[in-house]
Parts: sequence; structure tokens; C-alpha cells
Amino acid sequence: GKRVMHAKHYGIRREDIHHGALKVCDRLQDAGYEAYVVGGAVRDLMLGKSPKDFDVATSATPEQVRHIFNRSRIIGRRFRIVHVPFYERGGEEIIEVTTFRGAGEAPTDESGRILRDNVYGSLEDDALRRDFTVNALYYDPSREEIIDFHHGVDDVENKKLVMIGEADVRYREDPVRMLRAVRLAAKLGLEIAPTTRKPISEHANLLQNIPSARLFDEMMKLLLSGRAWDCLMSLRAEGLHNYLFPVLDQLLTKPATAQFLQKALSATDQRLAEDKPVSAGFLFAALLWHEVEADWQKRQAAGEYPVPALVAAMNQVEATVEKRLAIPNRYGAAMKEIWLLQPRFEQRVGTRPHRLLEQQRFRAAYDFLLLRAECGLIDKELAEWWTQFQYCDDNTRSAMIARVA
Ligand code: ATP
Ligand code: MG
Repeated sequence: GKRVMHAKHYGIRREDIHHGALKVCDRLQDAGYEAYVVGGAVRDLMLGKSPKDFDVATSATPEQVRHIFNRSRIIGRRFRIVHVPFYERGGEEIIEVTTFRGAGEAPTDESGRILRDNVYGSLEDDALRRDFTVNALYYDPSREEIIDFHHGVDDVENKKLVMIGEADVRYREDPVRMLRAVRLAAKLGLEIAPTTRKPISEHANLLQNIPSARLFDEMMKLLLSGRAWDCLMSLRAEGLHNYLFPVLDQLLTKPATAQFLQKALSATDQRLAEDKPVSAGFLFAALLWHEVEADWQKRQAAGEYPVPALVAAMNQVEATVEKRLAIPNRYGAAMKEIWLLQPRFEQRVGTRPHRLLEQQRFRAAYDFLLLRAECGLIDKELAEWWTQFQYCDDNTRSAMIARVA
């Protein structure tokens, strides 16, 4: 049944909503359409967290929305959505506007996965198509009301993550919902309801059917959730890591590699908590380093020279990872540069250390070296040498190089 609540009683005030989202709702409503702020923003505000983005759901079709906002553009193939840009503080911020989705009729493949979903419907239909009850809350800014069809308000208050409908069916429709369950629970401190949790391990293998670009996007969201380590641990508890990051089990069997991973992820969480930028290249360099290093050492033991052996190991790992996660080139390039600079820290003769300092990726590669040293994966002396070398004067640098030789 439909329930309507005073938003103020649940901690949501009009001034908490992004001005762009308010404007979009107001103008759509003025034009005679229904329009609400929906999804993560409403949920996060109720939980006292600041939303990362504001989405709007409306009865207007994409073309009708497009007509009202002259800078807007229609995007997406699987789901058509309208992006309405707003400019502030020098940057562009986008409000995503989606048309109410209809129930049923969406074409599925033989595993039950939804292929296209552009059938439009009512507000109630739209709520039914969303994943979790806490994600199906609608905020009407003009009436300052929350509309709730699935007890989402109660679930927010009880900190429960509950799938709308039959969880088993909903995971088949879209297996990525399993990853969303794990991420949202860890990020928001919610408990996954037993009926929502139970089918996950059984359906984990359905992730095989998901395009590697979408899996990469979800992996990024997990890693940048602010609770990356917790997310990885719950992925493993549900058996979902096998399709995203299968070496996790192996990494956790050795204290040094487990610690390396945990430190890299905690550093990321820490930076996010301080609103500092994080480098996805660095993150993936850390996640995949163990595989690269193992192959690198095997090749060197077989008589290959260090640098060509490293390049070959990198290509090898990249080729296997590619099948699961499509790492975009801009991150892949940074990741590989960080790896390639690692053996160069060992070359401390002549002008080589000076040249390494001038490398554009020196800082990231050095941070990576420190991480390896902290976990006992390499000799601490090497990392300390580089810490000192960076900050001392030319005479001391020459003396340091002479001492190594
Ligand atoms: P985040 O804080 O990560 O943005 P979110 O819940 O807002 O969390 P989005 O990916 O921004 O996640 O999606 C917006 C809304 O769209 C969700 O709240 C949910 O209602 C709906 N949604 C997103 N993905 C799915 C899905 N796979 N199946 C059903 N509904 C979904
Ligand atoms: Mg969102």
C-alpha cells in the first residue's frame, strides 16, 4: 500500500536538496508532470549522510523532459535517461532524470536477465522496478512529502536492506544487484535481510554473464565506497569475489600480501574520508600486483632479464584480468607505469636515481614502494634510501649513490 509521510519528520528539508534537482522537479511539475527526487539521495538524507548525486523520477517521457530543459541530452541504450546539466563553482553538475518505468513485459534472456527496459509506467510501477526498499522512496519537494510503497521508511529506520519482490527473481533479472546489496550494506551500515541475502551465493555465477565494462564500474563503486576493505570481505563471504577478483583467497593466506591489500584499501578509505582525490590506477596496481610479481619472479628464475620479464608478466596479467574487468586505458596506463618503475628503484648507480626522480609518476610509484616495504614485501632499507634521497641536497645525494656502489 502507498504511504505518504511528512518529510520533515524524517530529517529531510527542502534546503538539503541540490538546487538543480529542485529546479528540475519544480519545472516538470509546473508543466503538469509528476516529478520526485528518488533513490540514493532520499535514503542518504534520512540516514544523515550527504548524497553523492540527486536523481529525479518523472511521468514525462525523455523527449518531453528534453523539451523543457534546452541544455539537456538523452543518453543510454539499455535505459534511456536525460542528463540535465547545471553549472556551479566552475564545474558542471548533472541531474539524472528518468521516466517512470513500467512493470513486466521487459524482454529477458534465457537466464532471466533484463535486456531492455524502456516500457513506461506509473509511479507505483516505477517503485516496483527498483532494487531495495530503501532505494524506492520518493521525495516531493513542493509538498515536502515522502511517498513509500514498500516500507522503505521503516527499513531505513531499522537499518535493513530488503529486496523489493522475490529476491531470487530480482537477482536473475540483474545479477549486479548482488554487488549493489553488498556495497550498500557495507557503505551505509545496513544489515542485509536473510531472504535478500540467502539467494546470493547460489546465484553468484550469474555475474559471468555481465559485460566486463559494467563489472568494472561496479568494482570502482565498491573500491570508492569509503569502506573498500569491508566490501571486499563481504564479497568474499558471499562468494562473489570469484567473478571479480579471484586471487583474493590466495592473497589472504599470506600475512604480507593480506596486509599489503588492506593497507592500500585503508589508505584509499582514509583519503576519501578527508575529501582527497584517489588514484584508480594506484588502486588497481595494488590489487593486481601480487599476480604480476609472481609471474615476474617465475620468468626471472627461468633466466629472463628483469625488465622484459616484468613487461611480459604485466601483459600476461592484463590479458587474464581483461576478461572479467574492462579497466579503461586511462587507469590501466597509470597502473602499468607504477609497476614499471618498481625495478628502477633498485638501480641506484650513476645518474639513474636522479632521472627516476624526474619521472611524472615518481610520487605514485614511490608510495607504492613504501607500501611494499611496510608489509615486508621488499627490504625496508631500499624504501628508506629513497625517502632520504628525495629530500636531501646534491652533495648528500652523490654520497648516497657512492655508498650503494
Ligand atoms: P549511490 O549512493 O551509490 O549512488 P544509489 O542507490 O543512488 O547509490 P544509483 O546507481 O545512483 O545508486 O541508482 C539510483 C537508483 O536507481 C537506486 O537508488 C535504485 O532505486 C535504482 N537502481 C539502480 N540500480 C538498479 C538496479 N540494478 N536494479 C533496480 N534498481 C536500480
Ligand atoms: Mg545515486
